[in-house]
Formats: sequence, C-alpha cells, structure tokens
Amino acid sequence: MNISRLARDIAESPTFALNEEARILRERGEPVINMSIGEPKNKTPITAILSSATKLSGGDIKYTPPDGTPSLKKAIIRYTEENYNKIVAPENVIVSSGAKQSIFNILYSIINPQDEVIILAPHWVSYPEMVKMVYGIPVIVTPEDGTFHPRMEEIERAVSSYTKAIIVNSPNNPSGEVFSPDFIAQVVEYCERKKIFLIMDDIYHKLVFDGAIWEPAYKYTNADIENTMVIVVNGVAKLYGMTGFRIGWAIANRTLVEVMTNVQGQMTSCTSALLQAAAEGALNGMQSVVDNLRLTFQNNKQVVVQELKAFKGVRLIPPKGTFYALPDFRAYLPSSLANDSVDLSKLILKKALVVTVPGKEFGMEGHLRLSYAGSVKDIKEGIERIKWVLDPTSPNEIYIGDRKLVRDWL
Ligand code: PMP
Repeated sequence: MNISRLARDIAESPTFALNEEARILRERGEPVINMSIGEPKNKTPITAILSSATKLSGGDIKYTPPDGTPSLKKAIIRYTEENYNKIVAPENVIVSSGAKQSIFNILYSIINPQDEVIILAPHWVSYPEMVKMVYGIPVIVTPEDGTFHPRMEEIERAVSSYTKAIIVNSPNNPSGEVFSPDFIAQVVEYCERKKIFLIMDDIYHKLVFDGAIWEPAYKYTNADIENTMVIVVNGVAKLYGMTGFRIGWAIANRTLVEVMTNVQGQMTSCTSALLQAAAEGALNGMQSVVDNLRLTFQNNKQVVVQELKAFKGVRLIPPKGTFYALPDFRAYLPSSLANDSVDLSKLILKKALVVTVPGKEFGMEGHLRLSYAGSVKDIKEGIERIKWVLDPTSPNEIYIGDRKLVRDWL
C-alpha cells in the first residue's frame, strides 16, 4: 500500500497500545493490574459535569471560534494570573483538543524541515514522534550523571544553529522529577538570549509532593508576553482527572496564536463546545479537587517508594511529583534480556499480569515506568507480583486472582 514515508515512520503510542492490551485481558476475566496508563481514577469534578450538562440541555451545541470560547479563554486567563502571576490577553490563548494537540500545533507552527528540537530524557513518549511529524529532528539530551535532572551545560552542548525549540516538562513524565528553580531560571535566560522557543509542558504542575516547588518559567523573564520565547502548555487532563474531555491550551504571543488558530481552524475547526463548557466548569469550580488528587498521589508515591525498597537491586529516584515512578531494574534483568526493558515489560505481563511501560519508550533503557494513579491495593499487589517474577529471594509461590502460581524460571 502507498503509505507516506513520514506516516510510516511514526510509532504507535506505546502507552495506548499497552492500555488496550490490559483492557482486552481484563475483559477476558484475567486479574490484570494496569500500572501503565497515566490517568487519575477520580470522578469528573461536579462543576465540570454541571456546566457541560447545562450546555447540553440547552441544545445549542455549535461550532465555537477555532481558538476556543470566550468564556473558557476568560477562565484560562484567570488561571494564568492566579498560578503564573502573568496577565495575558484573549489573543494570547488558544484552546485545543488536549495538551497533546496544543504541543503538536506549536511544533507545526514553528518548525521548518530539518529544524531541531531539544527533548530532555527521560521524556514523554510523544515528543519525538510529534517533532518527526512536522519534518523536524528530535535531539535527545540525557543526563550524563545518571539522574533524571537535566543540566544546562549538556543542553548547550546539544544546541546547534538548527535548534528551534527546547521542550521542558516539569513535573516530569515519566520520572516524577521536578526541575529546580535554578535550572528553570537558567533555561529561560538561555532561550530568551538565544531566541530559541522554550515550550513549557506544565500539564502536571500542581501535582507536586512533600513541599517540592514548581515555579512558572515566566517568573524568570523580564520580556513581556509578546516578546518572550516562553510558550506555556497546560490542560485539565491530569490536574482534574479529565483525560477524556480532551481540553488543553497554549499561551504565546499574538502572532503565534494567530498562526496556530489558522492551523487549527483548517484541521479540526474547533474543540467541542460541550467539552469546553466542562473545562470551564472545572477551572471556575472548587479547586480542592486538585489538591485532593495531589494528596492521593503523594500518599501513593510513599507506598511505591516503600514497596520498591523491598527490591534490593532496584534503584529508585523518589518522584517529587506526577503519578509516575521510573525505577531502574537493570540489576534484576536476566542476562539474556541485556537491559531490554521491552522484553522485561513483556515478561512481567506474561508471568504476572502487570502492565508497565518499558523505559525504552522514554529514552531510559533498563527502567520501567510504573503509574501509581491506581489504588493502593493495586500498587502493592502489582509490585509484589513484579518482585515474584524477578527476585529469587521472594517467595516461590503467589496467588494471582484465584490461581496459585509457582515460579520455575529463576
Ligand atoms: N504532556 C505530557 C507530559 C503528558 O504526559 C500528557 C498526557 N499523557 C500530555 C502532555 C497530553 O495531555 P492531554 O491529555 O491534555 O492531551
């Protein structure tokens, strides 16, 4: 079949593929524990339900302006003022179908073929593919000191005359790392000086633990919104547990927002009126919803850290935010697997019905990403099952569902 070279090169989203595998197994009645997908388990905030229900029952669900309804943009402007201490105009805001579309739209609007985009590993799975989708070149920068925290010298070494943008995601998916205010200050100063776009993916910005501090990039620039290289991306998916509503947004200078609006207008026309009403309800409603989620994940993080301590060989840099951990399993990898996190993840799924995401997808071989957005019971049982698969010192027998299994491969 005549599939384009570009499309053929784009990888399937591994997290969605794994989630689907978990769903099929569960439908077959298998006692699967899904530690792969990144979504909170809470019910939709009531204010989001009510505001979309009111919109729906009014029966007037039409196209909206391509850049979003004026009332949702107003709520985003208020959110930006409260959380970023930045006053922006409606012309600086564009609403998209999820932060994912916001990021794609930004890249589509700023990248020429062969332009380079710096991505900091460990990184969200979609960044490199999105860069490739606009004929750009992803340049991955991995911390050389074995941590999950980027260093400015390493980024500077990767910058070339083709570098158009740097993507920074803190709190970070998949590591849970929150980048230091010092680092944010350095990267902002560098990008403003070098005129490189700095795309701040802030989708997890309120999910920080134990006093860790997230600070907006705007804090470290004197440039006004029309002149700064900082572009902010955010959305309702993670903070309000509204992944299925598909509402995200970008904040940038007017010229870029105008271009992005043209792009979006030709691509999707606009985001659904109903879902925009829901997002507006969430942003204007009680914000305790977000803090409750944050406290749940902070507690779950503690459970993950405790449970993984029982693996003597596993190295975990304790997450400071999000609902992911990225433990290093290299010490437990059978020599035949040679650090191959894809095979490791498959082995764990096959033997113990626990779904994890291979670190390879995030640029970190030998690691597995574990999502702890689920219940404490699932987290504990999931890690116990992984231990049974890999650790010869763990009990030889385990119950998975009502089946008693005996380990015979270590
Ligand atoms: N950025 C990061 C780092 C993410 O982890 C995700 C979702 N997994 C997104 C963006 C996309 O968010 P949305 O659901 O709003 O498209």
